Amino acid sequence: YSTAAAALEEPIKPPVSVEYTQLLINGQFVDAASGKTFPTLDPRTGEVIAHVAEGDAEDINRAVAAARKAFDEGPWPKMTAYERQRILLRFADLVEKHNDEIAALETWDNGKPYEQAAKIEVPMFVRLIRYYAGWADKIHGMTVPADGPHHVQTLHEPIGVAGQIIPWNFPLLMYAWKVGPALACGNTIVLKTAEQTPLSALYVTKLLHEAGLPSGALNVVSGFGPTAGAALCSHMDVDKLAFTGSTETGKVILELSAKSNLKPVTLELGGKSPFIVCEDADVDNAVELAHFALFFNQGQCCCAGSRTYVHERVYDEFVEKATARALKRSVGDPFRQEIEQGPQVDSEQFQKILRYIRAGVDGGATLETGGDRLGEKGYYIKPTVFSNVQDDMLIATDEIFGPVQSILKYRDLDEVIRRANSSRYGLAAGVFTQSLDTANTVMRALRVGTVWINCFDTFDAAIPFGGYKMSGQGREKGEYSLKNYLQVKAVVTPLKNPAW
Ligand code: NAD
Repeated sequence: YSTAAAALEEPIKPPVSVEYTQLLINGQFVDAASGKTFPTLDPRTGEVIAHVAEGDAEDINRAVAAARKAFDEGPWPKMTAYERQRILLRFADLVEKHNDEIAALETWDNGKPYEQAAKIEVPMFVRLIRYYAGWADKIHGMTVPADGPHHVQTLHEPIGVAGQIIPWNFPLLMYAWKVGPALACGNTIVLKTAEQTPLSALYVTKLLHEAGLPSGALNVVSGFGPTAGAALCSHMDVDKLAFTGSTETGKVILELSAKSNLKPVTLELGGKSPFIVCEDADVDNAVELAHFALFFNQGQCCCAGSRTYVHERVYDEFVEKATARALKRSVGDPFRQEIEQGPQVDSEQFQKILRYIRAGVDGGATLETGGDRLGEKGYYIKPTVFSNVQDDMLIATDEIFGPVQSILKYRDLDEVIRRANSSRYGLAAGVFTQSLDTANTVMRALRVGTVWINCFDTFDAAIPFGGYKMSGQGREKGEYSLKNYLQVKAVVTPLKNPAW
């Protein structure tokens, strides 16, 4: 590993300090009602960054009450769309101005390379907020040519108080995917961040208030899933839920909604996305793209290309080159320049990935490289490549969520389509080919929410994202996301003089 030693060196001091650790309820930073806090840890070392207020059911009640009042009495949903748009645009400007501090906070809490946070994620956050600001004054109903002497129109109204629960792999982007459309439509929000990464949401929400967001319109509660998260999902005064995380927790969330007030739920869950390298592919380019598709963000992407299917004609060459590429991957302190991979987010994920690696070896896959932790401190894992992977091995069926590439061999297109589709997940897929016909066939045959042809992880605010099958329900981003946050009201008025 080109910078293996970096993982062993003293960690670089983050160029930022932690300013906000309390809950943000009704526009104020407050302690948890219980007074409890929990530590958020530096994945480079496992040491405490800060103690953060630990919200639970009572804090959720306070936050929902604030959001309810802000919705029922305003001013947020009652403002003009143009006023809401201007606040969101000011918010985007403020985040852009504080780009580097926010990126540093994210790297410190999550372990992702600072260069990626600063050059990709914070700018994408800004783009998302501007995109949804742009929608704020373009949301409107229709007039409907119903049969009979009636004037019929639809109003598109905000749905109410949205409960949003986000994960730790892209704390900022998940915030923007959820908060952007909800606010643009005029909803109020209670957001529960992931317990591993509570810091960046508090920082940006402070900026959102500086931009003019009225108190109570967005409340942020840090805390754990079974306490704060479950209380939010069960709350009778929450009108909508949006969740990103594991399929297992997604099921719990649907159940909590069903057992309380049947609030509609959007789910963005796990994946086991195929990346298909066709026989006509340029192998060097395919290796590089497949490497990126799997290893980006320490492998912690719901859409990671975690089943690399390679045509038998190019298989051996591909495995050799993919192994060499993994060996070249620079792993180390994410604050160091030119680092491609930092530590995994926490000890639980780290241990889980190592267990899957052992399962790969025990199951008979060939470990080409990696397979172990890197260094003695923190949660670094060596970029790992398995070849000779079979479809029924755990490493080919389960979401590993780590830097572990599984390479499978196939013979023909129909076979690989069938195998790619034989997963309980259906989030995304990649296909690498020079043939338009092959690309078109695969693109139409796969039961997944996104197909990347000769690219991967190409995201934009305008492109919808979501899963088929057990990868989720509904779509986020793009225009599609707006309908998650709107009610449609049909209004019918008799016409006195239908001739006109
Ligand atoms: P998780 O689904 O348990 O956590 C995601 C969010 O849900 C967190 O905010 C958590 O506090 C909350 N949560 C947990 N239990 C809850 C409950 N009962 N009620 C309400 N909210 C609850 O995921 P995790 O434990 O952090 O990670 C486990 C696995 O999930 C990972 O290994 C990975 O496979 C997958 N994952 C997927 C994504 C994704 O983007 N789809 C993101 C993170 C993790």
